[in-house]
Amino acid sequence: MIESIGIVGAGTMGNGIAQVCAAAGLPVVMTDISDAALTRGMSVVSNSLERLVNKQKMTDADRQAALARITTSTDTAKFSTCDLVIEAATENEDLKVKILKDLCAKLQPRALLATNTSSISITKLAAATDRPDRFIGLHFFNPVPLMALLELIRGLQTSDDTHAKAEAFSKRIGKVSITAKNSPGFAVNRILCPMINEAIFALQEGIATAEDLDAGMKLGCNHPIGPLALADMIGLDTMLSVMEVFYEGFNDPKYRPAPLLKEMVAAGHLGRKTGQGFYSYGK
Ligand code: NAD
Repeated sequence: MIESIGIVGAGTMGNGIAQVCAAAGLPVVMTDISDAALTRGMSVVSNSLERLVNKQKMTDADRQAALARITTSTDTAKFSTCDLVIEAATENEDLKVKILKDLCAKLQPRALLATNTSSISITKLAAATDRPDRFIGLHFFNPVPLMALLELIRGLQTSDDTHAKAEAFSKRIGKVSITAKNSPGFAVNRILCPMINEAIFALQEGIATAEDLDAGMKLGCNHPIGPLALADMIGLDTMLSVMEVFYEGFNDPKYRPAPLLKEMVAAGHLGRKTGQGFYSYGK
């Protein structure tokens, strides 16, 4: 049974995961490299819970109780009693390997270890730990408190018991899980990112305008947002690096990034975060 959670990284994903676990009644220890990062992460959680109270989706007493369940520290020794530790630090393979290796010595032997990586091999990260059978990918979606899905990714070494415990954890925190084998992009991004890349090819070939391509997918396929607007939200640099991982990982030209995507990134037009992508967002 998973009754206490550790989270490495208090950024966008880490603080969201902390919030949903705490709101589900689980005590959480969240670490980061600086007190400033932890303070920022906690203020995001606090504001997010406050919004839920304002929308009458949570009582004020439950908000206070959830906040009280989260403790923060820059010291990973605080994970010594956790049943599950989720690594949600910056997306960098060398950094993640180092964090995971350091963590192993701090955890109880039976504790499960997980990563929220979007693109790094679960099998490879598992192999860097002292417990590859008790290691799994827990791929949350952004914003964590709003997105219903939790994608469970089994590395080659992940045991059935670890997978079953991860499924129970997902249910406990109110998420719906799907399970994927370790492979570039896992399941969701494997389908989503080539679809967005194809929309960029279509735009580049002058098949239709950006507005019409997006309207087509919204009105014709019931997508809540068009692929080009979504690319702007994700960030075109992130989109390009995902397609490069697919292209290299599968050795298959069907995953080659659209030349227009490369051009946009080279121009510094990265989407919403720079104010210019397939659409303009002002300053
Ligand atoms: P972020 O930059 O918002 O947060 C990363 C945090 O990790 C920062 O607070 C940073 O200080 C901290 N950190 C760096 N080194 C650390 C260390 N040694 N120990 C502890 N903390 C450390 O990044 P994010 O968007 O939250 O992404 C985190 C992970 O989640 C990545 O692996 C990313 O691929 C994955 N992910 C992101 C999204 C998304 O939409 N942002 C979605 C799914 C998965």
